[in-house]
Amino acid sequence: MDRISPEARSANMKAVRRKDTAPELFVRRMLHAAGYRYRLHRKELPGCPDIVFVSKKRAIFVHGCFWHGHDCRAGRPPQSRQEYWLPKIARNRERDVAAVNSLISSGWKIHVVWECELADGTDVMNRLKQFIDS
Ligand SMILES: [Zn+2]
Repeated sequence: MDRISPEARSANMKAVRRKDTAPELFVRRMLHAAGYRYRLHRKELPGCPDIVFVSKKRAIFVHGCFWHGHDCRAGRPPQSRQEYWLPKIARNRERDVAAVNSLISSGWKIHVVWECELADGTDVMNRLKQFIDS
């Protein structure tokens, strides 16, 4: 059981940053199996990146295509209640862009893994290795 209060949880839900999602766990497991050690969810960094290599100043976001409005099949907004979903997803995208810009301006390097890319784990892993080790 976690110890956050209902108020804090409600605030977390509003922030829409959903932690420990299946795609994120998948990426973490791949990195760990390849010998990488990292920190998670650094709250002091803009956007609270999912996976962080502090000394290398590299951060990885693992984005669900739907929530973050990816330009792919899975990222298409639903046909119903678009007046609800479109602004919500647009806000998530704005928040993502702001976080990435802020991190880059502080000297961080950023890599985004999209959920839909995980169909080919080997390909994702190759790109992550390049990103982390370059
Ligand atoms: Zn996608």
